[in-house]
Amino acid sequence: MDQDAVLALFRQSGALLEGHFKLSSGLHSERYLQSALVLQHPEFAEALGRALAGRTDHLQATVVLSPALGGIVIGQEVGRSLGVRAIFAERQDGTLQLRRGFTLDANDRVLVVEDVITTGGSTRETAAVAESYGARVIGAAAIVDRGSDPARLSLPMQTLVKLDVPTYQPDACPLCARGVAVVKPGSRA
Ligand SMILES: [Zn+2]
Repeated sequence: MDQDAVLALFRQSGALLEGHFKLSSGLHSERYLQSALVLQHPEFAEALGRALAGRTDHLQATVVLSPALGGIVIGQEVGRSLGVRAIFAERQDGTLQLRRGFTLDANDRVLVVEDVITTGGSTRETAAVAESYGARVIGAAAIVDRGSDPARLSLPMQTLVKLDVPTYQPDACPLCARGVAVVKPGSRA
């Protein structure tokens, strides 16, 4: 699946909008990305998971680990396609951790899977959870790379799409300056 095919799935499901948006952070952007909207379609989630599995099967992961909630659906699909377990880490008292009886050990080769990698901070935090069990993290994969720095990640990383989503303070927004009406994503115009 090439970049255009992935973007077509995002656009078709309303997961990628172009215009002038006010994000939940209060910042403005010309793009709105909500991967949950593409992943709500099981056939799209499966296709994206298969594509990521195809790029990572050489790493010979024994388990997929995703950060909750955003990574769970795509992690499940990558695990399905690779034929390995798919587990997730979730935040409790501010710390990402394994719960629900999920565990890892020194024999595990862990692939960290997320929907979107932005700074890579969540990827590193998820990798650290696996390492705290003595497991080996052998790579990271995400559907969308929003401008991560692979050098800082220090892990082999596979993504299906690179997508820049610049954000602006409202008083520095070029679209506001041009007088384009701003829309809150999710509200129907
Ligand atoms: Zn604006």
